[in-house]
Amino acid sequence: MRPIRIGIIGVGKIARDHHIPSILANPSFQFTAATSRNAQAPGVRNFLSLGEMLAQPDLDAVAICTPPQLHYEEAKLALIGGKHVLLEKPPCASLLQLRHLESIAAHHGVTLYQAWHSQHARGVSPAIRLLQQRKLKRVRVNWKEDVRIWHPGQTWIWEAGGFGVFDIGINPLSILTRLINEPIFTRSSTLYVPENREAPIAATVLLDTASGVEVQLEIDFRHTGTQTWDIHLETDTGALSLTAGGSRITGDSALASDDNTLASEYRSIYRRFADLVVHKHSEVDARPFQLVADIFLIARRIIVEPFVDASG
Ligand code: NAP
Repeated sequence: MRPIRIGIIGVGKIARDHHIPSILANPSFQFTAATSRNAQAPGVRNFLSLGEMLAQPDLDAVAICTPPQLHYEEAKLALIGGKHVLLEKPPCASLLQLRHLESIAAHHGVTLYQAWHSQHARGVSPAIRLLQQRKLKRVRVNWKEDVRIWHPGQTWIWEAGGFGVFDIGINPLSILTRLINEPIFTRSSTLYVPENREAPIAATVLLDTASGVEVQLEIDFRHTGTQTWDIHLETDTGALSLTAGGSRITGDSALASDDNTLASEYRSIYRRFADLVVHKHSEVDARPFQLVADIFLIARRIIVEPFVDASG
């Protein structure tokens, strides 16, 4: 079978760091094209407009790597144009946009794969297996990083529909919806919004499951020092922690990984995408995005000091 000829939409940080290397490392794909307003991808045809790229008959699929405010329109055009779509997280600007994309993909007989990279972290599957033998009692999530290190100059994160700190806060939620096999509800949430921005810089959230397991979430973009991407799970037979973004498990069993976390997550994403395209299936897990929507819906908002970075 010939490789899936794929183009990148939005040649920014995640496209350069992980999508392009994962495509080049996977023989199921042939990196064919890219479209970006200011950047170019090496070794492929670069287009200034998405429409021009989608008009290429020798393009089978696209990976959408732009900010979430743009995902819906770009994915819609690609799906209607008969291309398979790999959609970065957060999937869209609203839940109904995501639902509409699913129906467009089904109507046109193409694959829509909405990828959650954290669900591919190496500790997640072993943690699911361990939790099948235990009763979960309580969950605490600490997801704290320095936005100036990880998202310099990304003004879209601070605009409405960019989700602010939930650009990363949605990652542990995507792990929790895999680990917890029952409905999770938002009980209360507080969003801390800089007075010069439209989206939160930090949040404290209380969730609970249908059976009453309490989940505390603390996410913060203002964190300096040791960067923390940890989920602590209390169970009836002891504690279990998923650390380093879900790549390590500590507790009764230990799974250490020297692998570059995000690199292995993206290689796994592209293996899954190839499989979905070959079998003509779509995969959309809206649950993490539904939780973010509920967190914003019932939030108490506290205005905090302005956020200023190098881009102003
Ligand atoms: P980024 O570095 O800002 O790249 C996004 C690219 O989209 C830009 O370089 C820009 O390229 C293009 N773009 C088109 N229209 C734009 C607009 N109106 N405003 C800003 N950029 C526009 O962002 P990123 O970190 O790669 O993130 C992109 C997506 O991947 C987001 O959904 C993010 O949540 C997700 N993601 C990021 C990471 C990460 O570690 N960075 C990890 C996982 C997922 P041109 O200027 O050339 O058009």
